[in-house]
Amino acid sequence: MNADHLMDLRPVRIGVTTYREPAAWGVWNEPADLLPVTYADAVSKTGGMPLLLPPIAGTPDSMVTFVESALDAVDGLLVAGGGDVDPARYGALRHPATGSARPDRDDWEIALTRAAMQRGMPVLGVCRGMQVLAVALGGTLLQHLPDTTGAEEHCPVVGVHGRHLVRVSPGSRLGEAIGPNVEVASYHHQAVDRLPAPLVPTAWADDGTIEACEADDGSWTVGVQWHPEVYDEAGVVATFVAACRQAVSAGGLR
Ligand code: MN
Repeated sequence: MNADHLMDLRPVRIGVTTYREPAAWGVWNEPADLLPVTYADAVSKTGGMPLLLPPIAGTPDSMVTFVESALDAVDGLLVAGGGDVDPARYGALRHPATGSARPDRDDWEIALTRAAMQRGMPVLGVCRGMQVLAVALGGTLLQHLPDTTGAEEHCPVVGVHGRHLVRVSPGSRLGEAIGPNVEVASYHHQAVDRLPAPLVPTAWADDGTIEACEADDGSWTVGVQWHPEVYDEAGVVATFVAACRQAVSAGGLR
């Protein structure tokens, strides 16, 4: 086996943001940086080495050094799901159904996302991650979908991922990879409202909710409102990891 072949087999390094939540394990009950196992499994099964990136607090200046250090260590960024982005981040008043603010995650993930895009690094935003992508670039969110669409299909049962269909734009990067009609695992009560450039919508639910977006600037920047780490027959995570591998190949040896 030659060295080139070994490089082909070497996992690409995928930075994955984490939750920061109260958690209990063993005898401990304290705030924890955590991530459902489904993410690490989905990444590693498709040839990626998941490297968790918990929120780092700091001044804007000091945070830059952590963001750049984190991105130096990875070949792609996956912004994970989680609680609601603070509406103040997109200039809106809080809706009663919007969850409590998580300034640590908002600060860190918005900074990471902007810096990764500046590098031209592949980015996949999942659920909250897609919303972070939109807000990081100046977009806005719908704070409670049942108010807007009257539909409950995006989050039918508390604590259980629902399933619904999405229609994917055939000409989009995502559509070429996963096809025009996909069943997805869904758990969200918010969605993107206004998408900022260079993001364009690429998938929709039957009720018109924007279910995916991507950058039309040639970068591999994709957001999905659904949970491909839970159910991914279409291969969203594999497509992302392959894009990261291609970026590594194009950039030469690490
Ligand atoms: Mn949905």
